[in-house]
Amino acid sequence: MRAVMYHGPKNIRLEEVPVPKPGLNEILLRIGAALTCGTDFKAFRQGHPVLLGSLPAPFGHEFAGTVASVGEGVTRFKPGMRVVAANSAPCDGCFHCDRDENQLCENLKLLNGAYAEYLLLPANIAARNTYAIDEGTAFETAALSEPFSCAIHAVDATGIRKGDSVAVIGAGIMARFLLEALKAKGVRPLMIGRSPEPLATLTALGAGETISALDRDPVEAVRSLTAGRGVDAVFEAVGKAETWKQAISMTRKGGKVCLFGGCKQGTEVPVDAHRVHYGQLSLFGVFHHKPRYFETALRLLSTGLISTEGLIEGSIGLADVPGYFEERQHRSNLKSAVLPRT
Ligand SMILES: [Zn+2]
Ligand SMILES: [Zn+2]
Repeated sequence: MRAVMYHGPKNIRLEEVPVPKPGLNEILLRIGAALTCGTDFKAFRQGHPVLLGSLPAPFGHEFAGTVASVGEGVTRFKPGMRVVAANSAPCDGCFHCDRDENQLCENLKLLNGAYAEYLLLPANIAARNTYAIDEGTAFETAALSEPFSCAIHAVDATGIRKGDSVAVIGAGIMARFLLEALKAKGVRPLMIGRSPEPLATLTALGAGETISALDRDPVEAVRSLTAGRGVDAVFEAVGKAETWKQAISMTRKGGKVCLFGGCKQGTEVPVDAHRVHYGQLSLFGVFHHKPRYFETALRLLSTGLISTEGLIEGSIGLADVPGYFEERQHRSNLKSAVLPRT
């Protein structure tokens, strides 16, 4: 089969490799669609030891497809079924899994290899984090469950309730998923971005208000919209020290700061310690997803109530993947569907 292999930063190649055979409790999936993701672009630019491990590595982690064959022991799925799977599954037996923190599972292995004709789902993912897709849900739409589940996780971890005042910093794909996850909780957040076009999209999708950081100081703007107090909760979805600082500054006393955007390794962010202590702020990071969030994401996407319009800019074939990453490495804010059979 043809598969895109990652050999290191700026070095991915389409190669001919053997089709894997499913062993005990494993599923062989024929990829229907894979999606390019900002994390893959990050790996392409600068490497990503957590995501990719030893090299050369299979590449691509958002996907859906059809069961091609199943190993012994698999009873829930049969060849021909349309399914989506998460890119990991918890072990359910480690220190973190015992504490309902299974996104931090000590045995979490991230699955890659979606930019290929076939992908082998290991036993733990096949058993714990694979789901059938409705006839009416396209592979591309189902594959959005992975990024969307991270946003649902963040909103749940922040304990958002209807009526809360919330700001989101960022106007990219993850900010858009945060907006959808917040709308599902009955909240219309203030959204802060830079260029007008994505902000207009967020307004059309139901953002409460949008603020362009190019026109006004976002901290001032949020404060003036909240009687000087700041918002109950902020989601930082950019991953830069500057926006982490802004997030902390625009939260009200007693409020919550969800640091959702991952910063580059080695980044340090100075914090106004006085404000955090006397204003009793809660600052916390959120990473990855849990099976229940993945399932919620798929369910919401399957209803058709979540707008996915414009999220996926088009489709490419496997042979186009290396050139696509090379060309777009600095504009990773849109997704494309990789369709192996084109
Ligand atoms: Zn992703
Ligand atoms: Zn575990």
